[in-house]
Amino acid sequence: MVVVLAGGTGGAKLARGMLDVVGAERLCVIVNTADDIEAYGVHVSPDPDLVTYWLADLIDERGYGIRGDSFGVMEALESAGEPAWFRLGDRDLAMCLIRTERLRAGERLTSAQAAVASALGVGARVLPMSDDPVRAHVRSDGRLRPFQEFMILDGGAAPIEGVELAGIERARPSPEALAAIAAAEAIVIGPSNPIISIGPILAIPGLRAALVAARAPVVAVSPFVGGRAVKGPTDAFMAQARLPLGAEGVARAYAGVLDGLVAEEPAPGVAVLEADTLMASSQARRRVAALTLEFAASLPRA
Ligand code: GDP
Repeated sequence: MVVVLAGGTGGAKLARGMLDVVGAERLCVIVNTADDIEAYGVHVSPDPDLVTYWLADLIDERGYGIRGDSFGVMEALESAGEPAWFRLGDRDLAMCLIRTERLRAGERLTSAQAAVASALGVGARVLPMSDDPVRAHVRSDGRLRPFQEFMILDGGAAPIEGVELAGIERARPSPEALAAIAAAEAIVIGPSNPIISIGPILAIPGLRAALVAARAPVVAVSPFVGGRAVKGPTDAFMAQARLPLGAEGVARAYAGVLDGLVAEEPAPGVAVLEADTLMASSQARRRVAALTLEFAASLPRA
C-alpha cells in the first residue's frame, strides 16, 4: 500500500502518476478537506473531488472540475440574480449531490466520498483527512475570511496575516486514514501547498503521531520548481509562515515527520533526492512517482 497525502493540483498529479506505477489496489490518497464549503445546498469537497477527477482522467484543462462540463445550473442561478461565484459545473454538482445525499442519510464523509469515486469508476481509495469538519480561514487586511472566499472573491491577492483552522481541536483522523498509514509501505507527502493543503492534514490531532509511528518511510515531493510554486498562492503562504521557497522551506514545514525529500536542491537535516519534479505530462507524473517510491525504499527508517 502506498499512501499519498494531497491537497489539490500538485498532490493530485502525483497521485495520478502513482496510479500508473502501483495500480489502484495499492493506492490510497488522504486528502485535505479544510477547504470544503457548503454551496447551493450541497457539500463541496474541492480537493477530494479534484484528486478523484485526476484519477478518473476527467480533470478539466482549467485545473479543476470535470472536462467538457456544462454550467447550466450556474447560468440559471445567475439569471435568477442569485450568487454563483463558486463555479460548479453541472456534472461536478452531480458529484456533490451524491456526497450530500449520503451525508444527510447519516453516512460519514469517508463513505460519502467513496460513493463519488465509485460513480466515476475510480478504484484507488480517496480518503478525506477526517470525517469531522475543519475549515481553513485566512486572516488578511484584519479580517478572517473562509478560504474559498479569500481565494475567489478576494482573488487571493490580499496580504496574508495568518491561517486559522476552525474545528481542528475536535477533529480526529478517520479510522480508514489511520489504518492506511499503519499498513503503508511508503507514505508520500505530495507537492501540495505545505501550509494550506498539507498543513491541515498534519494538524489533525493524532495524525502526525500516526505518521511518526508508521513503519513506512515518509517522503515529501517539493512543490517548488525553479524556486517557486508551479501555480497558486503557495509562495505567499510560505512567506507568511516565514519559510523559504524551495527544499529548505519544505523540510522545515514537515520537520519531525520527514525521512526524505524529493526536490531540486539539497536541504539541511534531511536526505534529499535531487530531481526535476515538474509533472507536465503523464510520462513525467509516472517518472516522479516511480523515483519517489524507489527513494523511499532506499531510506533507513529513523
Ligand atoms: P490547490 O492549490 O488546492 O490546487 O492544491 P495544491 O496545494 O495541491 O496545489 C498547489 C501546489 O501544487 C503548488 O504549490 C504547486 O507548486 C504544486 N504543483 C502543481 N503542479 C506541480 C508539478 O507539476 N510539480 C510539482 N513539484 N509541484 C506542482
